[in-house]
Amino acid sequence: MVKQHVRYKIGDGRSISIWYDIWCPEGPLSKFISKRVLYDARMDVDASLSSMIQEGRWMWPDGWEERFNFLERFYVPNLQNGVKDEITWITKEKQLVAFSTAQAWKDIRINWPKVVWRDVIWFKQCDPRHAFILWIAIQEKLMTLDRIAKWKHSDNLQCGLCKDGKECHDHLFFNCKYAAKIWTSLRSCFWRMKEEKSLKEIIQLNAGFRGKNNIGIVVNKLLIAAAVYYIWQERNCIIFQMKERSEEVVCSLMKDSIRNKLLSLRIRKTKIVINVGEQWNLRWVNFSYVAA
Ligand SMILES: [Zn+2]
Repeated sequence: MVKQHVRYKIGDGRSISIWYDIWCPEGPLSKFISKRVLYDARMDVDASLSSMIQEGRWMWPDGWEERFNFLERFYVPNLQNGVKDEITWITKEKQLVAFSTAQAWKDIRINWPKVVWRDVIWFKQCDPRHAFILWIAIQEKLMTLDRIAKWKHSDNLQCGLCKDGKECHDHLFFNCKYAAKIWTSLRSCFWRMKEEKSLKEIIQLNAGFRGKNNIGIVVNKLLIAAAVYYIWQERNCIIFQMKERSEEVVCSLMKDSIRNKLLSLRIRKTKIVINVGEQWNLRWVNFSYVAA
């Protein structure tokens, strides 16, 4: 994958192979001229190399230009003493640029279409731990009991949080009684949310909101990621540590984490900023929130 993007720029020629490295658009010479041919012509090639080094002039071995007529088009650079050979990079758009890992990543990665929910998960103010779990949850890839049962037989698919439903993504993060209580308790903190019927609907609605820096939307996104993260953490605590916490305790931990986040933001004063601040018992002073 990388090779097709690498282009050698010949300086003194000391670190570049004339046969195997790509220093011209046609590709490496070894693509056209086999080892056998090269071996047979080794004396001529040696002579050409020394004429290049001594006189700065390159000559193809006898008969090669007739045999491999593409060689006529070949631009043979002069070796320049004291000039180091360079490796450059050809972008997907066929432009020659200096190598950087950032450019290499852009050219090599596979570009999947952007998903509508990307901004709901990844945004400047997000908590990376929460965002990561939400990112997996949204693709239904967390190891819930229904998924584990697909490769490991198990009769027990019971949700550990409510002890009353089958544990799958839809249940765990929304339909479960425990999760439902959490969403209900958070409802008053959300900005412009209706009665959504699933986590997907909540995400969809927020993906549709305009204005990335609207503090109301930022709070919504922080709340969604925190809710999913804490529900998943709670479920793991019950399964692996046999510890249970009530919805009230978990909700208050969640709200604390969001309040702390809000206290760390630098924001301009707007009507929404004041309103959201009041909801969280915060005052706007000099581009940030302080406890009211
Ligand atoms: Zn449940």
